[in-house]
Amino acid sequence: MILFEQVSKVYPDGTTAVDGLSFEVAEGELVTLVGPSGCGKTTTMMMVNRLIEPTSGRILVGGEDIAGTDPVALRRRIGYVIQQVGLFPHRTVLDNAATVLTLTGRRKGPARARAAELLELVGLDPATYGSRYPAQLSGGQRQRVGVARALAADPPVLLMDEPFGAVDPVVRERLQNEFLRLQATVRKTVLLVTHDIEEAVRMGDRIAVYGAGRIEQLDTPAAVLGAP
Ligand code: ADP
Ligand code: ADP
Repeated sequence: MILFEQVSKVYPDGTTAVDGLSFEVAEGELVTLVGPSGCGKTTTMMMVNRLIEPTSGRILVGGEDIAGTDPVALRRRIGYVIQQVGLFPHRTVLDNAATVLTLTGRRKGPARARAAELLELVGLDPATYGSRYPAQLSGGQRQRVGVARALAADPPVLLMDEPFGAVDPVVRERLQNEFLRLQATVRKTVLLVTHDIEEAVRMGDRIAVYGAGRIEQLDTPAAVLGAP
């Protein structure tokens, strides 16, 4: 579903962030990218929705070289969840979840109906929380709205950058488990960046272990843990 072929990224200041990366993520697979800060995880991920362009190599999504795609159309097929969710403070939770749908031309009624289903899916009762504003939610609940919003257009691919990083450890574990249950039903192709090896092990079908700009190991959690 996602294929990296010899992808490198050198930033204008000369920093090589990613160096000759080649790997493949199968449809419906969740791959966690784990490693210390600054090793190229975020750069890897942001090249998939063309927020960053590779210096060399190519990336295919669904068999198509993304260099030739319209970035806006591409991002409709790729949900993006980040640590600081960035909800619109003056819109209700329901309208936040519906944002992508109304932006892509759906009428308000159907968009809100779909948004309510999505809130249900991420464990927020739309009747209770739909009419609240983001400031009236806990951190964990805001993160759930972020996931709902990313799923709104039903994209085949989800990019998640430290999605559970901003909440306390107890809530984090709950969100991780909820997301795994959700993933068992929606089966998205997921790249999930984390610097937490426990999260990588718990969440990943496979784990990509990063060292400076490269993947040093790409294997199942059991194999990574068993490695010398
Ligand atoms: P990670 O997500 O693993 O923390 P990043 O992909 O953010 O790593 O960064 C990889 C390397 O690229 C780091 O050395 C970082 O400082 C550098 N880098 C990231 N963004 C930029 C940028 N816009 N300009 C220059 N260097 C950058
Ligand atoms: P979570 O485990 O989802 O992070 P918390 O334990 O932080 O939830 O919050 C528990 C309850 O407190 C939630 O039902 C939430 O609605 C409520 N709550 C948290 N912060 C606020 C707030 N700023 N205003 C109103 N209610 C809040």
